[in-house]
Amino acid sequence: MPEVVVENVHKSFGALEVLKGVSLSVGRGEVFALIGRSGSGKSTLLRCMNGLEKINSGRIEIAGHALGGDAKALRKLRTDVGIVFQSYNLFPHLTVGENIMLAPRIVKDVAKPKAREVAREVLQLVGLSEKFDSYPDQLSGGQQQRVAIARSLAMRPKVMLFDEVTSALDPELTEEVLMVMEQLARDGMTMILVTHEMGFARRVATQTIFMHKGKIWERGPSATLFADPQTPELRQFVKSDV
Ligand code: ADP
Ligand code: MG
Repeated sequence: MPEVVVENVHKSFGALEVLKGVSLSVGRGEVFALIGRSGSGKSTLLRCMNGLEKINSGRIEIAGHALGGDAKALRKLRTDVGIVFQSYNLFPHLTVGENIMLAPRIVKDVAKPKAREVAREVLQLVGLSEKFDSYPDQLSGGQQQRVAIARSLAMRPKVMLFDEVTSALDPELTEEVLMVMEQLARDGMTMILVTHEMGFARRVATQTIFMHKGKIWERGPSATLFADPQTPELRQFVKSDV
């Protein structure tokens, strides 16, 4: 049983068709990279996968949940599917620890001592154990993004979605965030990541998907896809990006 199934998904915003029949299937523990030009539909696809956008037709199943249920079903789905964006959106008036404990406390009704224990554990995973009592503005951008990842992990997700999480970071801060993601991949997390980091996609993603004009234009094992693009569009993209 794949952990993520996307079948012939169509999505429009008004008259603009952004996803034109997208299908993919991700097995447990696999890492998929989504690449493609700005506007090709990568973020929309990711947002559809955890119900932030409603699809017009097709089918999505993720972490054992079918999309399209009621609000309660959607809440359940979202506890199993973490999503991290370019902007980390930590609460500035809460400490790092409190930021991480918030969702488990509110959404999952986890008792405070347990939530604290989980927060310490996920902070350690992202290498920030000593920042538990710090406030977000005392951290670098890279550290804040690692806290955002930890906050997602505190929900014990089965699938993690990452949308250009390093795009706003300087190169050296980018590296520390990528290392956290690479460790997650090694630990067996099922992940789909939109990224501009071609080297990272090539090294860490089992499969890479090239999106173009709302379609999956090309896909394959990452090593093959980058080494031997089959379409002029991907050849052009790979060339212009590196
Ligand atoms: P990517 O992440 O690949 O850059 P997006 O999925 O963000 O692409 O966007 C794909 C297209 O959908 C773009 O033309 C964008 O302007 C449009 N789009 C995205 N979100 C919305 C929205 N909420 N309303 C209207 N158009 C949108
Ligand atoms: Mg995007």
